[in-house]
Amino acid sequence: MPGFHAIIVAAGTGSRAGAGLPKQYRPLAGIPVLRRTVDQFMALAGLKSVIVVIGPGQESLCAEVLGEDAPVTVVIGGASRRESARAGLDALTGRAAPDDIVLIHDAARPFVSNALVERVVVKAREKGAAIPAIPVIDTLKRVEKDGAVAETVDRAPLRAAQTPQGFVMSALARAHGDVAASHPATDDASLFEALGLPVAVVDGDPTNLKLTTEADFQMAETRMADTRRVRTGFGYDVHRLGPGTHLWLMGIELSHDRSLIGHSDADVGLHAITDAILGALSAGDIGSHFPPSDPAWRGADSSRFLAHAMALAADRGALLEHVDATLICEAPRIGPHREAMRARVSEILGIETDMVSIKATTTEKLGFTGRGEGIACQAIATLSVPGSRA
Ligand code: MG
Repeated sequence: MPGFHAIIVAAGTGSRAGAGLPKQYRPLAGIPVLRRTVDQFMALAGLKSVIVVIGPGQESLCAEVLGEDAPVTVVIGGASRRESARAGLDALTGRAAPDDIVLIHDAARPFVSNALVERVVVKAREKGAAIPAIPVIDTLKRVEKDGAVAETVDRAPLRAAQTPQGFVMSALARAHGDVAASHPATDDASLFEALGLPVAVVDGDPTNLKLTTEADFQMAETRMADTRRVRTGFGYDVHRLGPGTHLWLMGIELSHDRSLIGHSDADVGLHAITDAILGALSAGDIGSHFPPSDPAWRGADSSRFLAHAMALAADRGALLEHVDATLICEAPRIGPHREAMRARVSEILGIETDMVSIKATTTEKLGFTGRGEGIACQAIATLSVPGSRA
């Protein structure tokens, strides 16, 4: 694919889609729409730079969604779609060569495919300006002010325009300068049309939805849910029992005539669950994230380890569906504390209590757990992770 720059216009303030947030910041299957759209572009070969145009006051929202150190340039847009595109273009001045290709894309279209981007880039390189568009499927009616049908419109020559729209940098900058500021451009190609300049059309993609209404979001969520995949992870941990008066198990402190020995608080239950979640994410093990050699974790509250694993999961759009753990020991007795443990673990994980199962067994006085030398725990975590795209 030839090289190109991308301007992602995310300056809208519309919250027609509900949830109180501008739609581009709203999560879709756990990941904000803007992040999905930016990630989609970042993965493309040929990408030279990304400008994200946001609305005034959206700086912290944007940083939260993209991360403080995302390799994008964030600029503030204007009151209209056109002014926002212009702000993005200004940010490219001096960075893009006059004959570079610039793509302008709506942040609210997170399902843009690599193939579509390539079609636009190649055609814009060839013709100077190119947009993707799809045929209109519905029969079209022109309707009078009183709501009555005036006529059926011939849909054969009509197309619905999508983004990304691609242009040669210098031509786009000139069009912005030459077309009167009063021109109500709802897309970038209309500036070229206003000047009588040709705009080539490539096949759009019906799945390249623009998320606008609540119904759009619900449909997209359903599509994403269909593509989610289930992952399971297994965790196992053992800690030695030694002299003491209390121990930590599953996030709660129990009085006992022995203590669990370890570098951290030695909560064998939370360690096994943490490893199970890391396992489902294929993200290493607890020792690789929190090396026992690091003094920072001496006596650490193990809920921090579990919260870290959950943050990694959230970062990947993964949802924890269920945790099942079995503590293996002769003592203390787990039954009387089971509900408190489930409540505490579900609190740390931020999921419902009925998604956390905690069981216990002895080993009939056999082995190290039977002799009371230590406590073991096994855990299985079930997560669902997003498919690559809907
Ligand atoms: Mg451990």
